[in-house]
Amino acid sequence: MKGAKLTINLLALQNNAKYLVDNIKRNSTENNNGVIAMVKNNAYNLGLCEAVESFYDGGIRFFATTSIKECKAIRDMYSDVHILCVNPNTEFDFIREYGITATLPSFEYIQENHEKMKDISWHIEWAGHMRRSGCRSETELRNILEFAKSKDIEIEGLWTHFSWADTFDEEKNYEKERDEWIALLKNITKDYSFKYIHSQNSASFSRDGILPNHTHIRPGILLYGYYPHDRYENDKIIPSIELSGEVISIIKLSAGESIGYCSSFVPTEDTLVAVVNLGYGDGLLRKRGIGHDVIINDKKYKLVSFMMSHTVVKIDEYVHMEDSFDASEKIISVNIENSEVKIGDTVYYYNKELPLHEFTKKGVGSCSEQMSPLNYSTLEVEYIR
Ligand SMILES: *Cc1c(COP(=O)(O)O)cnc(C)c1O
Repeated sequence: MKGAKLTINLLALQNNAKYLVDNIKRNSTENNNGVIAMVKNNAYNLGLCEAVESFYDGGIRFFATTSIKECKAIRDMYSDVHILCVNPNTEFDFIREYGITATLPSFEYIQENHEKMKDISWHIEWAGHMRRSGCRSETELRNILEFAKSKDIEIEGLWTHFSWADTFDEEKNYEKERDEWIALLKNITKDYSFKYIHSQNSASFSRDGILPNHTHIRPGILLYGYYPHDRYENDKIIPSIELSGEVISIIKLSAGESIGYCSSFVPTEDTLVAVVNLGYGDGLLRKRGIGHDVIINDKKYKLVSFMMSHTVVKIDEYVHMEDSFDASEKIISVNIENSEVKIGDTVYYYNKELPLHEFTKKGVGSCSEQMSPLNYSTLEVEYIR
């Protein structure tokens, strides 16, 4: 038995990094343009070291994450990269020792800590509409910049994170926060210069390209091979994850006979189902389960029940790969002997034909939500290098 399996294609990560780096170089008039790879939460749970190495090979020399522990792990790998910690913190000696670029979140912060802030590169955070942290007004920003100058503290960058970039809403909230930020940059760069200005996640970049005055974009999900929304799909970004299980039994249910906890699936007619050795305990979101497709031997079948270590697939009807279940279904045999699906067959939950972003569209959750829970202790993990 093969066991449930997660395959992570590092060549896809490298390809996606190279594609974005080249794209920024081609399409921007600014100098020093580039890509800051967002590798927070263990590189969206794909493995920090493996992902950083692949992005480095794709040409990326600037990384960002939320924890200084991950910043150190990146520094231990490469001495010739920039590493930004986007969360504010006060481990000044640690930051200095590992050459970590730090976030300056407010005027109070620099007033309180200026004596310990020397010999560190600082990027000021603008709160924008996100307001997790960061300065909240142009006055506050100017106060920080003046104070820093007087104390000889090096401000190298200015950044923000848009709160609406992944959403297209009637009120055009993204456009509002973006335009406020661009107006702020226009004002502030008259009086101060920054080596680094960055704001855009994958969604913002794919909506607008790199924005004026910006030196870098700061994508996560595009680098991992998934689209933040369906208005930007091309064949250049390659999905990185394949998740599969194996059929461990095939069961014929008579009409009215249930399977799973609390009769979670009760067919109204005789039905053939396959039980697969992968469930929510392996990190597959429950929402990904019911009513959504899996692929077995190049045909799509429907998931009908979802348990901790098992899922159940209805295997007496299928649609062809290019169709979805809205199209008419082909009923095949309900006899085990004639079943097209056999014990030992591989069942794909995610692969090139079933990319995570397709399930985002169906309401399963964002791509990062689908990636984060994947369970490395129960899945057999293979990296393709
Ligand atoms: C997660 C994150 C990103 C990347 O977002 P994607 O939507 O994955 O591109 C960029 N910047 C910050 C501050 C983030 O937290």
